Amino acid sequence: MTSAVQVKNLSVTYHGHTALENISFDASPQQLVGIIGPNGAGKSTLIKAMLGMVRKNHGEVTVFGKSISKVRKQIAYVPQRSMIDFDFPVLVEDVVLMGSYPHLKWWKRPGKNERKQALDSLTQVGMIDYRKRQIGELSGGQQQRVFLARALAQGGDILFLDEPFAGIDISSENIIIELLGKLRDEGKTIFVVHHDLSKVDKYFDSLMLLNKTLIGFGEKEKVFQPELVSRAYNGNIALLSDKDGKVVVTG
Ligand code: ADP
Ligand code: MG
Repeated sequence: MTSAVQVKNLSVTYHGHTALENISFDASPQQLVGIIGPNGAGKSTLIKAMLGMVRKNHGEVTVFGKSISKVRKQIAYVPQRSMIDFDFPVLVEDVVLMGSYPHLKWWKRPGKNERKQALDSLTQVGMIDYRKRQIGELSGGQQQRVFLARALAQGGDILFLDEPFAGIDISSENIIIELLGKLRDEGKTIFVVHHDLSKVDKYFDSLMLLNKTLIGFGEKEKVFQPELVSRAYNGNIALLSDKDGKVVVTG
């Protein structure tokens, strides 16, 4: 099977400090992949380096066998929410409409099709009734859903979400994870940076354990193992098994 995303020997250095070292993996399509690791592990850097938003020292990234610069339109990215400035006065529907811009020629304004796509996406995340509200008025979970709608409006086959569940309400979290599962079933490949280990087993098909180097990658059952998790978290977290599944203990 062709891989959806292939990364070979990716390294990133910030001012002489190594953030990622020789990361290689091969992700097959139509999966929900959790990117797991402690603070500062390089999770956000990995996504940005794959998308060409930070400079790679070396490494190669291909998407469906093509160089990433050729398939940019197929990839949607939702940054970490703390990185977005919400004081900017903009309506919810316009935030989503901007998601369709990569597909438009520079001289075109979004038209009827783009508008319909934007409203459909807002319906999918349960935010259609908020379309005329300012983005800054919404709760964190509602904002996250709007940014997911924006990514959907873009219509890519590959989705990168950086900590979409951080600091949001449980009902938004449930809406988002359910929708991501549906999108995966429809064929999308979705990478989600996540650091709540208690939900990992339930949420993802595959896992990447990251801590500057790649500690593990592959099927959840193989990667979500006490020894590997402990290594990724520098021994600060223990994963125990009981009769109901895996239990996470912070040390
Ligand atoms: P994570 O998302 O897993 O918390 P990051 O990718 O944000 O980790 O950061 C990985 C490492 O790189 C950290 O040590 C962080 O301080 C450093 N880093 C991240 N972004 C920059 C930057 N723009 N300039 C310098 N160092 C950075
Ligand atoms: Mg991060």
